[in-house]
Amino acid sequence: MALFGRRKKRQEEAEEPVVEVQKLPDPPAPTINGMRSMADHRDYLLSLVEPLPPFGQNLLEAQGLALCEDIVSTIELPGFDNSSMDGYAVRCADVAEAAEDNPIDLPVAGEIAAGDGDIPQLAVGTAVKIMTGAPIPDGADAVIPYEGTNRGTDRVRIMVSATPGLHIRRRGEDIAAGTLLMNDGDQLGPRNIGLLAGVGIDKVLARPRPRVVVLSTGSELVQPGSPLTGGGQVYDSNSYLLAAAAKAAGALVYRVGLVSDDREEIKQTISDQMVRADLIVSSGGVSQGDYDLVKSVMPELGLTDFCQVAMQPGKPQGFGLIGEDDEERVPMIMVPGNPVSAFVSFEAFVRPVIRKLMGVEPYVRPTERAFTTHVIRSVKNKTQLARALVTTDPGGRRTVELVGGHGSHLLGDLSKANALILLGPDVETVTAGQPIAYWPLNDG
Ligand code: AMP
Ligand code: MG
Repeated sequence: MALFGRRKKRQEEAEEPVVEVQKLPDPPAPTINGMRSMADHRDYLLSLVEPLPPFGQNLLEAQGLALCEDIVSTIELPGFDNSSMDGYAVRCADVAEAAEDNPIDLPVAGEIAAGDGDIPQLAVGTAVKIMTGAPIPDGADAVIPYEGTNRGTDRVRIMVSATPGLHIRRRGEDIAAGTLLMNDGDQLGPRNIGLLAGVGIDKVLARPRPRVVVLSTGSELVQPGSPLTGGGQVYDSNSYLLAAAAKAAGALVYRVGLVSDDREEIKQTISDQMVRADLIVSSGGVSQGDYDLVKSVMPELGLTDFCQVAMQPGKPQGFGLIGEDDEERVPMIMVPGNPVSAFVSFEAFVRPVIRKLMGVEPYVRPTERAFTTHVIRSVKNKTQLARALVTTDPGGRRTVELVGGHGSHLLGDLSKANALILLGPDVETVTAGQPIAYWPLNDG
């Protein structure tokens, strides 16, 4: 992930190479009460990562991934005129007068099943039994379904007339050869995959799923499934929450789990994990506390940026390009430890970065709007991201109400919410009935 500044600049004149101080590009200036705006911080992080290089992948494995090529069909769909019904291929002229009270008998000259190749010409005054998907014989211009016949074998009695083209799927009517099927950057979904397979494609050039390593820091943390043995212990919810959210965003996730507030353990874990990471996400240890070690340790492992973002929750944020050389550096997003802060930080920063690594636009989740059912108060100078429940009334009008309190430890409320409402730094009060922007949460 080489992005900027070489360590040693070649100096033509000087004999001694000048060693440049390595650092991240200048971060955006704080613009809101000494804090960085949420959008500025997100854009800064996005400017420091690049989409992962694409490679050829099996069609099914590329589900959800972004294509890195335009795909043009080299064949037509259907590839040949074929029957859309089980019945008899005929010439319309031979059955023009056929009706219930005026049946017409024709000799059955043969049978064509789906997959048959050598198709004889249809002679005047005859019919050929034909199955759905089988090629239409030359000379035939319609198919009479079984339901309009006596289903005869040697001779068939036809009780309905036909117009030219009846029950015939025309060659190329779905996809013409040369049709642009998908564009560079499109994300492959199940129906696209079906189409590509339908035109004979089994591999595509696509950007891979980013490998995201997730860990949480804190000596109070206990692995879920183990007993809590001492006072002050809490289960590690964040590494699960963040891992699940990263997976839902399309990443291939390695959940490392918990790491104590111990300098060496943090350093060792991060160093060990770098080899399999396109992105590392950690929680905890980025605030002002005495044991907020991530903040003090990570500068020893790479280029870092710790800042206060004008948002609530999620104010303390850390970012790094971890590793010694430009070539091996791995981006790392360090979010605060309170579970709601960690989740909000994921939505605000981690998810857009994962999408950029995947090459899937838009990187930032588009906001939707709903009308509040009650007064909502916000804090000035911070973007407030509040948990909320959006419902649609029978008339199709979307309304939104807050779920639970403001505390960023309230996991129960978080799981009940289906939206995060966004109240900008200038907003202090929203009166009932006003529209507000929100991010829907239940779509992965
Ligand atoms: P920190 O950001 O490390 O200061 O943690 C802030 C708060 O979040 C503390 O109450 C922690 O106990 C709690 N916390 C930190 N990490 C986790 C985690 N992985 N799971 C649940 N709670 C956590
Ligand atoms: Mg902590």
